[in-house]
Amino acid sequence: MAEFTMELNDEQKEVRDWIHGFAADVIRPAAAEWDEREETPWPVIQEAAKVGIYSLDFYAQQYFDPTGLGIPMAMEELFWGDAGIALSIVGTGLAAVGVLANGTEEQIGTWIPQMYGDANDVKVAAFCSSEPDAGSDVASMRTRAVYDEAKDEWVINGTKTWATNGGIANVHVVVAVVDSELGSKGHASFIVPLGTPGLSQGQKFKKHGIRASHTAEVVLENVRVPGSCLLGGKEKLDERLARARERAKAGNGERLKNAAMATFEASRPAVGAMAVGTARAAYEVALDYAKTREQFGRPIIDNQGVAFQLADMRTSIDAARLLVWRASWMAVSGKQFTSAEGSMSKLFASETAKKVTGQAIQILGGNGYTREYPVERMHRDAAIYTIFEGTSEIQRLVIARTLSGMPIR
Ligand SMILES: Cc1cc2nc3c(=O)[nH]c(=O)nc-3n(C[C@H](O)[C@H](O)[C@H](O)COP(=O)(O)OP(=O)(O)OC[C@H]3O[C@@H](n4cnc5c(N)ncnc54)[C@H](O)[C@@H]3O)c2cc1C
Repeated sequence: MAEFTMELNDEQKEVRDWIHGFAADVIRPAAAEWDEREETPWPVIQEAAKVGIYSLDFYAQQYFDPTGLGIPMAMEELFWGDAGIALSIVGTGLAAVGVLANGTEEQIGTWIPQMYGDANDVKVAAFCSSEPDAGSDVASMRTRAVYDEAKDEWVINGTKTWATNGGIANVHVVVAVVDSELGSKGHASFIVPLGTPGLSQGQKFKKHGIRASHTAEVVLENVRVPGSCLLGGKEKLDERLARARERAKAGNGERLKNAAMATFEASRPAVGAMAVGTARAAYEVALDYAKTREQFGRPIIDNQGVAFQLADMRTSIDAARLLVWRASWMAVSGKQFTSAEGSMSKLFASETAKKVTGQAIQILGGNGYTREYPVERMHRDAAIYTIFEGTSEIQRLVIARTLSGMPIR
């Protein structure tokens, strides 16, 4: 097990500088344009694929970094460039992780390459879990998958919402109910390739921030997929459902009313790292501005009111990064999250990003409020971190329940 360290080694520094270079030279200059267009920035994703940043190999390398710092470092740099474009680049990873975590080797080998495509023909993937009536309360999901044994096919019906890359993805990973008695234990994941009859994009959302990232409803009407599209396979699913039914009978399998509260401790720090990237970007703009903007015959940073704000901003960002790195190291070292440290990191980093980007607008004054300067966009982008992958309230619920052992509502 790697010791916890705050010092990146030479190899990590090299990777960080390479990603930072891409973020500074390719992502940042394109940010305002794609925010205005509210479209997936395919040419930027393609550039990322060309240099090797948009690929499973890249994420696998960061993921298997024994210090745990590979993923948070990569996320921070990409999202420092721009959150909307970075989410377009890393959004496929959500679906890929779904397949890696639950799929057979054959499914991984078949579907993950189709999620990314190649540098000449890039593709994206979508992870579809949320529904109009099942956001934080994942267990109230309604999308159903029914097995047609005669044809060895699954028939899926339902409406997914908020799916990043939904409807434009080459591969959709769809979570559906296969046993409604078991709450979230009765869910299974399916591969639904683009072009499958019955799969369509519903409303595409016009958003407050991260507007370069495509978010849409995904409608599934009598979608039929072969048995081989059930992630993990039927035998494994039947075993898992049988175990869950046994536990339910024994009285310790009560319906999980809020599956979003089940531990995602290991994945949440990655979202925290995205928030750190956005916060750091806004802080840097504000620091530069405060040193050069003059009022009353001196730079505005000469006023403690401004300088202290910058001191607080930087302190919060560093504290957020430390929480993210600690949780990432715990995840890779197999440590138990006895105090919901993953949720803590996501909560603190998300709230920090929202606050710091707002402070940056204040420091830039009128300029901060316009689209001539990037902090206005960063502030809009930052609001997403307290919502997706579990809202701040859900993080607090998870932390409070973990600390107290009480069923806090
Ligand atoms: C841009 C964007 C991209 C997304 N990408 C994806 C994706 O790719 N795939 C996917 O499946 N989903 C995705 N989501 C969905 C996201 O995870 C959900 O929006 C999130 O889980 C919250 O669900 P909700 O929007 O239904 O809010 P709700 O669950 O309705 O919550 C509304 C409010 O009530 C609060 N609340 C709810 N329950 C409690 C409680 N028990 N205690 C205290 N407060 C509570 C919440 O904190 C929130 O403030 C995305 C969302 C957005 C906006």
